[in-house]
Amino acid sequence: MTTVTVKASRTYDVTIGRGLLAQVGKEAARLLKGRSAAVVTDSNVAPLYLDRVKDALEGEGFRVCTFVFPAGEASKNGATYLNLLEFLAREQITRTDGLVALGGGVVGDLTGFAADTFLRGIGFLQLPTTLLAAVDASVGGKTAIDLQGGKNLAGAFYQPLGVLCDLDTLDTLPPETFADGCAEVIKYGMIGGPDLLAKLEQGTFRQDPEEIVARCIAMKRDLVEQDEFDTGARQLLNLGHTIGHGIEACSGYTLSHGKAVAIGMALVTGGAAAFGLCPAEVLPRLKRLLQRYDLPVETAYSSAELYEKTLSDKKRTGDTIQLVVPTAWGRSVLHRVPVRQLEDWITKGAAQ
Ligand code: NAD
Repeated sequence: MTTVTVKASRTYDVTIGRGLLAQVGKEAARLLKGRSAAVVTDSNVAPLYLDRVKDALEGEGFRVCTFVFPAGEASKNGATYLNLLEFLAREQITRTDGLVALGGGVVGDLTGFAADTFLRGIGFLQLPTTLLAAVDASVGGKTAIDLQGGKNLAGAFYQPLGVLCDLDTLDTLPPETFADGCAEVIKYGMIGGPDLLAKLEQGTFRQDPEEIVARCIAMKRDLVEQDEFDTGARQLLNLGHTIGHGIEACSGYTLSHGKAVAIGMALVTGGAAAFGLCPAEVLPRLKRLLQRYDLPVETAYSSAELYEKTLSDKKRTGDTIQLVVPTAWGRSVLHRVPVRQLEDWITKGAAQ
């Protein structure tokens, strides 16, 4: 078992290990004054893990109510959010009670936003059950729902009371969903973890993920502690995401986030090589690593299509757009690019 302590506007522990869902009752009893807990989860995760979490909470004397919504990004919207708030009101959840987010990033983002806004803020615990949620979404306090105008457009920074990352839950992930999380793990390596990249190149980590997951969470902790509200260093976590969001949007959100980020990383690294910012040997090495983890490295969308969709991304400021650019194997920097240069960047990146 590994514990990573995050010191942000709230200090909390992220515990990583096996069998941790059974500990959620004790953790909730330690962190909450009230004795009611609302568990929020989705229709895929509920049959797998809800009973385990309910039993653990009831075993510590909690009254437990459960809110289960249809799995998938399409549920991370205003309607589900308001249904959840109305549910909490009906269940007479008070400010000393808590929410428990059991699931992937969709469950975590939605529950966190509800926790921040219900009664002007009640405590919540994160129980991530996807690799992506374990290494990224459940830590750092970004919460959100999607609007018709775009992904994550309504949200808040609101840190959880604690995170229990039960690695047993990763065993039931479909291979594609595990691969999506691998894109984020490789991203951490490219931001600043040559040691992490070396481990990833040696072999897969699905059987024994603790060391890799803990290393990624520690890297995220370091960035969140430097820049909780995402105005500087934390933006490094967007490696592959700016063009990746463009790719996701081009696909009408049928391509998963992880796959889009993988292609985005390859394109931005290719662009960096073309503009002389990154040694040429980094791109083929990155592509080999992404493919080793069953991730794509190219897209059929044209540079013009990608440019148009990428421009609607939040990271645009006036005439420039922020990119995260690899400058070496295991090192990346923030780099502002004039908006008119972005299409050229994508075209050259794809040609590498
Ligand atoms: P997800 O929550 O939709 O989970 C992916 C799929 O896996 C779903 O079908 C889910 O039901 C299923 N699933 C979850 N756990 C499972 C398990 N243990 N066994 C079997 N199936 C399981 O998606 P995700 O990839 O976890 O997260 C993506 C979301 O996270 C996006 O909405 C994204 O915006 C958000 N995100 C947030 C942050 C943040 O900092 N808040 C960071 C990255 C991504």
